[in-house]
Amino acid sequence: MFKKILIANRGEIACRVIKTARRMGIATVAVYSDADRDALHVEMADEAVHIGPPAAAESYLVAEKIIAACKATGAEAVHPGYGFLSERASFCEALEAEGIIFIGPKPKAIRAMGDKIESKKFANAASVSTVPGFLGVIEDAGHAERIAGEIGYPVMIKASAGGGGKGMRIAWDESEVRDGFERARSEAKSSFGDDRVFIEKYIVDPRHIEIQVLADGHGTALYLGERECSIQRRNQKVVEEAPSPFLDEVTRRAMGEQSVALARAVDYQSAGTVEFIVDRDRNFYFLEMNTRLQVEHPVTELVTGIDLVEQMIRVAAGEKLALSQADIRLDGWAIESRLYAEDPYRNFLPSIGRLTRYRPPAEGRSGAALVRNDTGVYEGAEISMYYDPMVAKLCTWARTRLEAIDAMSDALDGFTVDGIEHNVPFLASLMRHPRWREGRLSTGFIAEEYPEGFAPTMPMAEEAGILARIALSAHLIDATRRANHLDRLRPAQGLRRDWVVKIGDDYHALASDDAVATEWRPGEAVWHGTIDGRRVTAQLRPFANGMRIDWQGLSVRTRVFTPRHAELDALMPVKLPPDTSKMLLCPMPGLVVSISVSEGQEVKAGETLAVVEAMKMENVLRAERDLTIGSIRAKPGESLAVDAVIMEFA
Ligand code: ADP
Repeated sequence: MFKKILIANRGEIACRVIKTARRMGIATVAVYSDADRDALHVEMADEAVHIGPPAAAESYLVAEKIIAACKATGAEAVHPGYGFLSERASFCEALEAEGIIFIGPKPKAIRAMGDKIESKKFANAASVSTVPGFLGVIEDAGHAERIAGEIGYPVMIKASAGGGGKGMRIAWDESEVRDGFERARSEAKSSFGDDRVFIEKYIVDPRHIEIQVLADGHGTALYLGERECSIQRRNQKVVEEAPSPFLDEVTRRAMGEQSVALARAVDYQSAGTVEFIVDRDRNFYFLEMNTRLQVEHPVTELVTGIDLVEQMIRVAAGEKLALSQADIRLDGWAIESRLYAEDPYRNFLPSIGRLTRYRPPAEGRSGAALVRNDTGVYEGAEISMYYDPMVAKLCTWARTRLEAIDAMSDALDGFTVDGIEHNVPFLASLMRHPRWREGRLSTGFIAEEYPEGFAPTMPMAEEAGILARIALSAHLIDATRRANHLDRLRPAQGLRRDWVVKIGDDYHALASDDAVATEWRPGEAVWHGTIDGRRVTAQLRPFANGMRIDWQGLSVRTRVFTPRHAELDALMPVKLPPDTSKMLLCPMPGLVVSISVSEGQEVKAGETLAVVEAMKMENVLRAERDLTIGSIRAKPGESLAVDAVIMEFA
């Protein structure tokens, strides 16, 4: 076994690999850029090597720097995590040439699976079911049209070198194929430097289900069940689970056996993932194979009890897998929620800043469930604009799917993150969504269920009742403590009476003796308690004269009044927020790339006003209606805070 390995990655996955290496008695080396000097993975590793400036292209993506770090520290092997250099065959070869072992598959397998057309040919040859399509060279738009006609509409045009959900378009008829083919080809050329595109059947309303495989260099290849990843936003996974609520034993075995056949066909030696889409009739079609550890691998670990990183390290060290297919049993249900630094209320725009508060729920047993949180941050850490905006991967495990969902709901309710915007409210509301709970999923779920994006909702009557009682309990605990401080001999008087809790603009009458039990103390952000026998976790944040309560994706402002005060409060004039409809505000902290209009110009709805860059993504800000530009306040090159005024309209 290795004595020392280097982790060529950052964030949660670097921390996750370090944990397993440490348990195995292997010393670890971290690498870090300027932006990651104080990062958790640097602190956790036994040694750390600085590899350059923040931009990944000048640090984490530079193979020579990783190799130099291995030599400087005597690391015998490299775990690449996911992303960065994990699927670069040339990186493995460069390591091999230096006698350093790559903890992953051989370069040949990475190459074979790295190209969509080539991998489909391999899959076909290994009798893996693929999406019906054409894998040859498409000469021109006319040719594309003939092929699409043969496949049958709708079709999908894909860049062979594409990835990360990019370079795909759907065509519903001949004119869309002609148009789409030309655009796809020029886009593929400019984005991936490779203009090969192919056409395949577009599967309507599919589910994304993938198989975890594990193979060694001694002829053993196994499948470790599936993960369903149908909860996606713009082809990016948000919530994953294992097993899939959709598969039966027969389909599971067929998908597993085909995945193993594919792994064998490319002499795969490591952990890998074979991705499929599955239609309503449980027909499944190979999409691609990811030749690395997958972000969502923890759910497989939770239902199989197998540490995938440990297995990868053992296989890379030349060991024979100590498992056989019969040893692989799926036990219970696991769910993963990806916590992103993004604003769910603003169309999920990226958010950056300092984590002024970061308190994940306790890991380990929670009642009959288990909680696991894979993270690379800590309270006080900075979420920068340079890297992936994922903050943590929160997982729960329980005997059944619904229990795992309820455990996730509770864990999300108790997850405190302040200082940045994040998607916890969205995830928490998803956990209550009836269609999600029933497991009726498709990759279109989020687009279908949240067509207008995610908006704050007002609580229903029963929910308002719970929120009102949380607010009142906090108020009474606070008031009792204050009363006791003021006069220790005459404890809290006048608290046992009728109260009115204002939630948003609504008033809820309550009596103080409502059945609430809690251990909450003033100042605590997380409120745990029991209301009518039901366990409730919520978060409380004080604001002027009141409490904001976050619970299950609801976020409300509450105030507690006596009935008389409530009557008077209702008479108070309403203060209107300032009118921002005549301004273009910067939707996230970012850099102004360009201003596309000039003062006095008339623009039509949909025209570009400005482009702002944040988190490596360019965001085009367009006119929402026909308007005339007034004064322009920001200049290209300027860094703006969220809600800074870019321009005013006349
Ligand atoms: P990438 O490598 O860019 O991630 P994939 O081929 O893995 O691309 O596809 C990503 C997602 O796009 C899938 O999870 C699925 O939601 C959708 N998708 C891809 N191919 C098809 C298809 N033929 N029909 C329907 N949806 C598809």
